[in-house]
Amino acid sequence: IATAGTSVVEEKVYRSPIICILGHVDTGKTSLLDKIRHTNVQGGEARGITQQIGASFIPVENIKEQTKAFAEKVKMEFKLPGLLLIDTPGHESFNNLRSRGSGLCDFAILVIDIMHGLEAQTIESINLLRMRKTPFIVALNKVDRIYDWKPCVNTEFKEAIKLQSRAAAQEFDSKVKETIAALAGQELNAELYWRNKDIKNYVSLVPTSAHTGEGISDLMLVVMQLMQKRMIEKVVFTEQLQCTLLEVKVIEGYGTTIDVILVNGSLNEGDKIVVSGFNGPIETTIRSLLTPPPLRESRIKSQYIQLKSIRAAMGVKIVAPGLEKAVPGTSLYVVNDDDDIEKIKADAKKEVDNVLNDIDTS
Ligand code: GDP
Repeated sequence: IATAGTSVVEEKVYRSPIICILGHVDTGKTSLLDKIRHTNVQGGEARGITQQIGASFIPVENIKEQTKAFAEKVKMEFKLPGLLLIDTPGHESFNNLRSRGSGLCDFAILVIDIMHGLEAQTIESINLLRMRKTPFIVALNKVDRIYDWKPCVNTEFKEAIKLQSRAAAQEFDSKVKETIAALAGQELNAELYWRNKDIKNYVSLVPTSAHTGEGISDLMLVVMQLMQKRMIEKVVFTEQLQCTLLEVKVIEGYGTTIDVILVNGSLNEGDKIVVSGFNGPIETTIRSLLTPPPLRESRIKSQYIQLKSIRAAMGVKIVAPGLEKAVPGTSLYVVNDDDDIEKIKADAKKEVDNVLNDIDTS
């Protein structure tokens, strides 16, 4: 079975939490994702980072290594198998997912440009996160743009700030204060993460640079810490299927395929599935489960490799007949022998009605 990895701690099996990055355009969402992936690549070899369909998996070994000195200081104990970062921050189908408040993301990173503060889509994002009760932290990005900032490549933020001039440190302080005040204007309490003693009521701010890498390890560690402290029960692996359709794509040689994020449970080749369609529920059978080949085996010529079975959490491409009218942002259901297929179809139909409603009203 291919899996993004689960971990067993105290007899509980955990899946990877699904993390979304969102925020205003140009705040650095894509750059942060790249940096997180890149910082994890050492000596040219991607240590276990796997590119999946629609997501990147960062294994815990990787995060441990990257945050070593830091994790020891805070006596961090890692319980989760890793983090699954959704790849498409600005993607259109993601808007649909966002506004529908689907159960896709366990946790979010809201990116704010430290030089610009709150912008229109920052506020929109905050409202969406609130609506679907998704916990989040703020990456206060582009700290390297602060006047007189001395780049400290890939350094823990608290170390980096110690090395700055008075002027730079002062500007940093004043930008942080401005952001905290602006967030308060949105009725959000916020505090720099190392000063935040009340993680339930205060959002943690993690200063970062997607260019020079300050604060990237802090970001990973804070996400891990919060997931483990506040919502570990949410990422217990179960066979209760939770699977969200991200995109519908025509792929040469395969026909119409759907890209899904398997949030919980497992999927197998040959599974009978129901997907929401614009003209009613689609009943079909999984012909193949596809994923990009591992980086190390890039000599593999084909674009995809086939898997017999996958376990959450993971992004995967599904090949099946009749997917042309599938609706992004809806759930995928597996039909087992003793399931009431009419009930499943009715649920699928309800989801499409909701999505169409959202499109009408947005
Ligand atoms: P997105 O629209 O939120 O995905 O933003 P991008 O990642 O495309 O970044 C927008 C612009 O900001 C690009 O020109 C990036 O190179 C730049 N940028 C992103 N992060 C940083 C950062 O940490 N520091 C600086 N100086 N520039 C950044």
